[in-house]
Amino acid sequence: MNIILLGPPGAGKGTQAKFLEEEHQIVQLSTGDMLRNAVNLGDEIGKQAKEVMDSGNLMPDGIMINIISQRINKSDCLNGFILDGFPRTTAQAEALDIMLNEKDLSIDYVIEISVDDKILIDRINSRVLEVNESERRSDDNAETLIKRLGVYHQATAPILPYYKDKGILRQVDGMKSIEEVKQLINEVISGT
Ligand code: AMP
Repeated sequence: MNIILLGPPGAGKGTQAKFLEEEHQIVQLSTGDMLRNAVNLGDEIGKQAKEVMDSGNLMPDGIMINIISQRINKSDCLNGFILDGFPRTTAQAEALDIMLNEKDLSIDYVIEISVDDKILIDRINSRVLEVNESERRSDDNAETLIKRLGVYHQATAPILPYYKDKGILRQVDGMKSIEEVKQLINEVISGT
């Protein structure tokens, strides 16, 4: 089973991807985590990623498509995967289709975790107050979040109709509790 989790930054895609990993023995492919690893390694992509991520912008499509294409080829993806943070643009969505087609794979569900912007901004403001700065991601602040939300609406949300037209888009209410969202996603997958 192959799943795409879509939704604005802070909607809880990473948290829900972890639940899906455990319950369905499929692997979470988080492009944000891959880029943060590259930043820690300090390689060329990492240097570029640090700047781009801190500004709230997106990495170039070509680089991200390459990263995902290579990652999907690894043997741990054979049972299925959850794409978390990819695709983020129409070009990435189209490239993903071509790539999956070539590998004889397809996406079973695209699950949009929807959350109002205002709630996301409230959540980040309380996180800034609660969590020590050294434990926060460097892009985890209200200013970068607002920029990232703008980028989401402008570059990522337009891919929702693309999946709706294919009949594989499902929406869950990301403003419910983590447990309830988990339940809603399980209902989508089990078809209940
Ligand atoms: P995330 O952890 O998914 O919120 O991603 C953190 C940051 O990594 C994003 O704000 C982007 O700068 C970058 N990033 C992650 N995935 C992608 C992608 N598919 N395309 C472009 N940039 C990405």
